[in-house]
Amino acid sequence: MFTIDTLAIFYLISASLFILGLKGLTHPSTARRGNYFAMIGMVIAIAATLVNPAVQNYGLILAGLALGAVIGIIIAMKIDMKAMPQLVAAFHSLVGLTAVLVAIGTYTEHAAAGHVDGIMLVELGVGAFIGAVTFTGSLIAFGKLQAILSGNPVVFKGQHWLNLALGVASLVLIAQFYQQGGLMPLLLVTAIALALGILLIIPIGGADMPVVVSMLNSYSGWAAAATGFTLGNHALIVTGALVGFSGAILSFIMCRAMNRSFISVILGGFGGEDDEGSEAAHAANQGVKSAAVEDLAFMIENASKVIVIPGYGMAVAQAQHALKELTDILDEKEIEIKFAIHPVAGRMPGHMNVLLAEADIPYDHVAEMEEINPEFSTADVALVVGANDVTNPAAKTDKSSPIYGMPILDVEKAKFVFVIKRSMRPGYSGIDNLLYYRDNCSMVFGDAKEVCESLTNELKNS
Ligand code: NDP
Repeated sequence: MFTIDTLAIFYLISASLFILGLKGLTHPSTARRGNYFAMIGMVIAIAATLVNPAVQNYGLILAGLALGAVIGIIIAMKIDMKAMPQLVAAFHSLVGLTAVLVAIGTYTEHAAAGHVDGIMLVELGVGAFIGAVTFTGSLIAFGKLQAILSGNPVVFKGQHWLNLALGVASLVLIAQFYQQGGLMPLLLVTAIALALGILLIIPIGGADMPVVVSMLNSYSGWAAAATGFTLGNHALIVTGALVGFSGAILSFIMCRAMNRSFISVILGGFGGEDDEGSEAAHAANQGVKSAAVEDLAFMIENASKVIVIPGYGMAVAQAQHALKELTDILDEKEIEIKFAIHPVAGRMPGHMNVLLAEADIPYDHVAEMEEINPEFSTADVALVVGANDVTNPAAKTDKSSPIYGMPILDVEKAKFVFVIKRSMRPGYSGIDNLLYYRDNCSMVFGDAKEVCESLTNELKNS
């Protein structure tokens, strides 16, 4: 028979595998292996939980497992890569809801049996609070990313004070719950935290959404850890803490990459509509050059170094395979080609790396922003494929721009810049791109995949 000590060893093994999984995910070449480690860890954790002597009824657990597995498999097979951030946000909301339900269920059960102590009440109060914030916060993030809700910040006077008051009220209620117990304070904490989750996320604008998704990832980890304490499950505590810390560290790194203060992003109010008086709006009245695919092919044919900047539009068009073909052709012609990856290009962290890896573009052709920025001045052609915000010089020059301060790819330093996109429509942050009005920049209008395929045909035939 499995004792609690034996189970602890299995949980330790699965926690170690999760850590190896995270380590693997730090580089595209080891990411697949990392995923396998994490999957094995999860199977061990689930199996160890199932053989726990405390489990008395397998019927509901197996039904839940089967239902969850079927839903998970269907979603994983059907999901469009572009919808991944909102899917992650939706999953986080479920973790939050679970923490709330476990806290309320555990309290009701233990109170009925007369088995409640102070520490448990604090765990339950904190678990319900974090879970409820995660639940509604993730739903709002989902709504914004899915464009069900507007991506613009919703701000009103006294917002921060209201949030502070709700935070203090929650603390008071948790203290009351600790001293006296009772379902009412627990339900009130939950209700306040549900409101707080909404209020914390509505003021955050589109351009800061990547940070929000990773911050909610962190909250969902803490909610899972709180559930782990409630249920006395070591695997949940360790896994929750891993997710909590890694999400917080990722949010911090992303804030640094976007030159944001972590605290001000959390408190919200950044990333709205274009300011009509901004430099970008004035530039919109000036002319923009456009070029044909043949012109682009000619410039690339005569270049010695080309830097490709992939963005969200590459993902929409699924142009990565055409870019792989371009890479092969340029390698053959001994023209240097590199890919410049901005940390928030696309719609989720690592979005571009995943797509380029899927197309088998060699890792040694791919460079992160800090590494590639000094190289733009040595490039003959910078080829922007469906990227927009991450190349916008307004981030460096226009103090009125909502993306001011975000480090960008120094695309305009290349000798010639070509931008493949379908129109002059703005990117995610909704603002005009000053790059398009530079003397060395030409637009190649069209779907990224179609243009890249025509480009490779031109180069093959030349
Ligand atoms: P942007 O959203 O700034 O721009 C993408 C561009 O792609 C658009 O301007 C669009 O122009 C073009 N496009 C769309 N479809 C196609 C197509 N089929 N063919 C060619 N072009 C196309 O993308 P970036 O990658 O530059 O920047 C990412 C933005 O998303 C940043 O603002 C970031 O903050 C935000 N974000 C990032 C997340 C992350 O974690 N990475 C998560 C959430 C948001 P047109 O319509 O004219 O074709």
